[in-house]
Amino acid sequence: MGFAVKSKYDVIVFGGGVAGVCAAIQSARTGASTLLVEREARLGGTLTNVGINFPGIFHAWGKQVIDGIGWGLVTRTVSESGGTLQDFTTPGMRHSWYQVRVPIPVFAAICDEEVLNSGADLLLHTMTGDAKRSKDGWRVTLCCKEGMRKTSAKMLIDCTGDANVAEVCGAKLRMYGECQPGTLCFRLAGYDITSLDLKALDAEFAQAVDTDVLKATDAGWGGNNPRVSGLLSNRGNNANHIPVDSEVRTSEGRTRLEVEARASVRRIVNWLRDRPGLGGLHAEWVAQETGVRESTTVVGLVEITARDYASGRKWRDAVCNSFYPIDFHEMSGRGLNCVQLEPGVVPTVPRRALVAEGCEGLLMAGKVISSDRLAHSALRVQATCMATGQAAGAIAALAAQRGEKPEDVPIAEVRKQINYKVG
Ligand SMILES: Cc1cc2nc3c(=O)[nH]c(=O)nc-3n(C[C@H](O)[C@H](O)[C@H](O)COP(=O)(O)OP(=O)(O)OC[C@H]3O[C@@H](n4cnc5c(N)ncnc54)[C@H](O)[C@@H]3O)c2cc1C
Repeated sequence: MGFAVKSKYDVIVFGGGVAGVCAAIQSARTGASTLLVEREARLGGTLTNVGINFPGIFHAWGKQVIDGIGWGLVTRTVSESGGTLQDFTTPGMRHSWYQVRVPIPVFAAICDEEVLNSGADLLLHTMTGDAKRSKDGWRVTLCCKEGMRKTSAKMLIDCTGDANVAEVCGAKLRMYGECQPGTLCFRLAGYDITSLDLKALDAEFAQAVDTDVLKATDAGWGGNNPRVSGLLSNRGNNANHIPVDSEVRTSEGRTRLEVEARASVRRIVNWLRDRPGLGGLHAEWVAQETGVRESTTVVGLVEITARDYASGRKWRDAVCNSFYPIDFHEMSGRGLNCVQLEPGVVPTVPRRALVAEGCEGLLMAGKVISSDRLAHSALRVQATCMATGQAAGAIAALAAQRGEKPEDVPIAEVRKQINYKVG
């Protein structure tokens, strides 16, 4: 099995979230020697470690628009865990209905198996150390448990979700003083919702927010209408908003976020436990990591704008489709600005948004691709991340094998590898 690091690869993929897993599998299946490097104990990223285990959206307007490796991982997980898929041709449901719930441990184990079966090497518990440009690629330092290790690759793919590799490679980044807020997911237990006076609890919660005992965003997304009844009805689940800026891509910024997020969950749980009928309330599960919707993106050969996305632009070098509303979260106001796509619109993603500008041999996939902030709020969802990962894997492998720049590999060859209809 591929656990021993080699001194040379065609492609190294950093970050084993849904984008990185699909990138590594596709790169190896295309015949490139491939290494996947992941800093955590398991693959899946936000899906597994943040608890957002409902990837979407693969279908739009009654037909499948994203297929390939990601869809294979999802359907295998559902079938192996005895689940069934909903009828995606059902029209008119809320967009979240078209997402697919997958059990986390099964998904993570299937990712392990598919990555290793593809022929890629896999290193968990490993982070980006450094990357320096060499004559024909990158000299790479990996930060392993036992210390620093050297390897090299012709192509790198940044799937870290935070552009960590792009930053060490010296690529141009888009950073923001205030990003969309993060969320620490949790699940509440130990109470009977039907026995509670939700109106009175909402009134008490609003007063606690007024007097700075709690923050409105401890129990909801919106800053201007503090309520706790929604959180109690949902038993937690994607319920809070924690402030984030682009510093969250760093260890210091991420540490601050995790500490603030855990304090927020503790604050609301302790406050609730002191209310009538809630003495037994507790958080039976808290995600191991706070979810970050947005931190940093890499400047690519083109930038996908919200206008491109909402108009369903068909790029000449499209490598995958994407489908989601513009879904922009904020700390203030209503907390979410969600704009549905017009009927029939299916946006596409150009190859050039996956190729870093001015940084030879660097591609990116998943939530760091080149886009403006509103387009990013739709492009960041998991089915699209899987599709951009698969596309980046094919492009990087072909570029390494043919000795060409990623943007020069014939697009027909890339699409042949991806092997499902785009556009
Ligand atoms: C609260 C929340 C709710 C969401 N809701 C939905 C939803 O309803 N539907 C949907 O489809 N999507 C949703 N999303 C978006 C989606 O889950 C993510 O954008 C997507 O999973 C990102 O995938 P990725 O592979 O690009 O990055 P990530 O999932 O962030 O994966 C990056 C991986 O890289 C690893 N890594 C990071 N830095 C390094 C490094 N320096 N070296 C090595 N490895 C590294 C990480 O450990 C991680 O495994 C939500 C996101 C959040 C946070």
